[in-house]
Amino acid sequence: MQFKKRKFVKILGFSALIMLFPIKAHLAATKKIINPNLSKEQKNIMFNEGTERPFTSDLLKEKRKGFYHCANCGNKLFSSTAKYDSGTGWPSFSEALPGAFKTKIDYSFGMERVEYHCAKCGAHHGHVFNDGPRESGKRFCNNGLCLIFKPE
Ligand SMILES: [Zn+2]
Repeated sequence: MQFKKRKFVKILGFSALIMLFPIKAHLAATKKIINPNLSKEQKNIMFNEGTERPFTSDLLKEKRKGFYHCANCGNKLFSSTAKYDSGTGWPSFSEALPGAFKTKIDYSFGMERVEYHCAKCGAHHGHVFNDGPRESGKRFCNNGLCLIFKPE
């Protein structure tokens, strides 16, 4: 009886740890609106996990050299060298710049997907998949409305 009780307490403590860590991670990426000029649609995507309609982004045709920044906070996220045409209708990248994003598992729509947020402001940008064509094997599927392209 004594032993069982101790074990139970141990399990409780362990569960508490598991529960605390995700909360901490979540707080670290607290979302905040920095750019006061964001449109209603941009806010819906970035702060309400929305998705823009495919094939609507002007950035799909963008082929110049430069960098893609967060439309909310200006954080530098992707290099144009990582951009490719995935045919999905959203701007796609084979890799992000180091430390640009934080990821979390998204279980919505009955799927398990890896969602990523700007590491600086916490804004939602898109999902990353493991079916990329390049060496990294990654496909960052990014809402174009979340990005600002700055040519070099
Ligand atoms: Zn940002």
